[in-house]
Amino acid sequence: MKNIWYVILVLSLFALAACGSDSTGSGESNGYKVGLAMPTQSSERWVKDGENMEAEFEALGYEVDLQYAEDVVQTQVSQIENMITQGVDLLVIASIDGEALTSVLEMAEASNIPVVAYDRLIMNSEHVSYYATFDNYEVGVLQGQYIEESLGLADGEGPFNMELFGGSPDDNNAYFFWDGAMSILQPYIDEGQLVVRSGQTNFEQGATLRWDGALAQERMDNLLSAHYASEDIDVVYSPFDGISRGIISSLSSVGYGTDSKPMPVITGQDAELSSVKYIISGEQTQTIFKDTRELAKQAVNMADAILQDGEAEINDTETYDNGAKVVPSYLLEPISVDVNNYEEVLVESGYYTEDDLQ
Ligand code: BGC
Repeated sequence: MKNIWYVILVLSLFALAACGSDSTGSGESNGYKVGLAMPTQSSERWVKDGENMEAEFEALGYEVDLQYAEDVVQTQVSQIENMITQGVDLLVIASIDGEALTSVLEMAEASNIPVVAYDRLIMNSEHVSYYATFDNYEVGVLQGQYIEESLGLADGEGPFNMELFGGSPDDNNAYFFWDGAMSILQPYIDEGQLVVRSGQTNFEQGATLRWDGALAQERMDNLLSAHYASEDIDVVYSPFDGISRGIISSLSSVGYGTDSKPMPVITGQDAELSSVKYIISGEQTQTIFKDTRELAKQAVNMADAILQDGEAEINDTETYDNGAKVVPSYLLEPISVDVNNYEEVLVESGYYTEDDLQ
């Protein structure tokens, strides 16, 4: 009898010890360290992404090294090099220039450190294990459809004057957003329902290096003075809230935003707080909400699965060719937000409080 109790005690101790080495959400150290390389704190979304991932990783017992590179490519490369030298077990990277990390990822590969590309695809490297992102083409489609619906283009309305802005040419996402939007808008441009008076209808002509709102503002100033001295502009396609805010400043400076000269329809992306306020007050028309809480969770689950089991769940094996391989991906769904649904999508989900939006 005594022996049986002894065996039970020993087995229980083993079971407890086994739990301790697993990632159980207890917050106890699991012995792994992850490096999180984020692009910049100048846009809210990346701050939230970083904070959310850090919290999720720590809850699973990971040690976290979170770094921001303030949109300087060489800073990001050095930060990743340091993480590798310090011996992180896994890297999660939201790149600044997706084409600039090939060599540093060779270093990661030599040290057997798996790499998860976060939101933005890392190009020209075999050593990107997985990619966690949103359906980026769909983001563009939703922006294009918003313009289509709000102007009544499918019912033959028009012509409307439109100008187009693209994202950063070193970010693979920028092409997906543009192509998705153009899949909806191009036929209306061809039909003459949308008139781009500048003639700038290629991605390269509309691109905005590093998604910089100040550059967008400058380009908008030039477009307005060169092509809209005697005509009003009715719609501006913008892929990102920070770019939209630059466009809005430019438009305000020449008198848009009044009853007699209303703001054009202006799209955006990321549901940044100041832009949601602009949507409520009528300066911006729409944005795309990508729930960074969900993306962070997804990336952390991926990383945890890689380290614990060697592989992670994916839902796309075709879309994201980085030039060296098709990177297995998990895509989340973006949501279009305007003044009619921001309460439901952003407030009821707890992303923002009513107070945030005052
Ligand atoms: C992200 C967008 C963001 C943009 C600018 C893109 O890679 O997918 O959510 O608006 O970068 O930061």
